[in-house]
Amino acid sequence: MKIKFLGGCNEIGRSAILIDDRIVMDYGLRPSDPPEVPLESVLPKSVIVSHAHLDHSGMVPSLMPARRKRVPDVYLTSVTRDLAQLLSRDTIKVGKDQGFCFFDEADIRRMDHHTHPVDYGERIVLDGSDYGADYELQLFNAGHIPGSSAIYLRKESEDISLFYTGDIKLGETRLIPGARPAEFPQSDILLIESTYYGREHSDRRELEEEFVDSVKETMNSGGNAIVPCFAVGRTQEIVMILHSHGVTPYVDGMGLSVFSLFKHHPEFLKDAKALNKAFSDAIFVNSKRRKKALSEPSVIVTTAGMLNGGPVLYYLKKIHEDPKSKILLTGYQIEGTNGRQLVEHGCVETDGEVLKVNARVEQYDFSAHAGDSELKELVSRFCNSGTEVVFPVHGEHAEEFASWARDKFGCEAISPHNGEEYIIK
Ligand SMILES: [Zn+2]
Repeated sequence: MKIKFLGGCNEIGRSAILIDDRIVMDYGLRPSDPPEVPLESVLPKSVIVSHAHLDHSGMVPSLMPARRKRVPDVYLTSVTRDLAQLLSRDTIKVGKDQGFCFFDEADIRRMDHHTHPVDYGERIVLDGSDYGADYELQLFNAGHIPGSSAIYLRKESEDISLFYTGDIKLGETRLIPGARPAEFPQSDILLIESTYYGREHSDRRELEEEFVDSVKETMNSGGNAIVPCFAVGRTQEIVMILHSHGVTPYVDGMGLSVFSLFKHHPEFLKDAKALNKAFSDAIFVNSKRRKKALSEPSVIVTTAGMLNGGPVLYYLKKIHEDPKSKILLTGYQIEGTNGRQLVEHGCVETDGEVLKVNARVEQYDFSAHAGDSELKELVSRFCNSGTEVVFPVHGEHAEEFASWARDKFGCEAISPHNGEEYIIK
């Protein structure tokens, strides 16, 4: 089996892995300015998408141009299909503002026509007449966002198998159940994300308490609590947390469309009723009602999570000078984003203007990734059941992770670089 890494090695963003020159697992876009894309443009016969985040799915429509004789088949869960379309349409809009264009609406429609939704655990055979070798494909819940999958791929002719975690979380959140490693099949090769290698998460319940107390304290002192969130997963989870503590938030931005989409896929949620109830009690905001949301002490959950665009910039412009107000960041802020600039330098940039922020800034680790001990638990489980080759990807500490796996299990563990190719027999 030949594995070529086209992105997402020693970095977070533009994940793309090519198998035997025929099958692509993930084909992502790093939403920086300008965006970064996989190293090579490829002509696969199949595309398997682990989940809908842009850094895993964002460039899939670019593999669908009309001039190609054969458009690749796309395998993913049904909710990932719907989310990927929504986010791809948003990428076209952002591209118009920022001056890039990787695909158009017709490409998104072609992607939809060639999509095959796969259920967790369902066995799919990628037909040998097309591939020169039969592959068996299975997806497993990865516990990262609704519809997120770990990918199992077995090449029949060589009797060799691969397991790719995608982005994975073992602990459950209010929104989704965690991944269950006991259900994962044995595999010869493991490709594992390493975002939080070397770091543990704090206890989820304590974190929720701390977060809600801070929101309440801000409102009690007459301020506005602005909670920037990713549209997929984080917005819905934060609204559920606030609701369960009796706090009614305003909700603004694309997280609302994502909630409407989740309503059609209750089977991917832990408790669809609780999500619906939380949103039916929340107050939805559009551009006309933003002023009202700020006219009283309030909590406003809004996109974008790293402050690079979206309605959050409207709110920051209005409250940045108010020391009673607060910005509560809910996720990791990657380098080069407004969110990182806020954390490190106390300012944000919008419409070419730099705003010095006097409002208080706090960061909460509502991560959707496995922490250090969960990552190690996964590697132990696989290596103890016969895995011989481990490739840590998707993280800045992949080399240390590989070295830990080598020392602990004596397996071949390699931190690959973008553009490298490995043949495993
Ligand atoms: Zn992700």
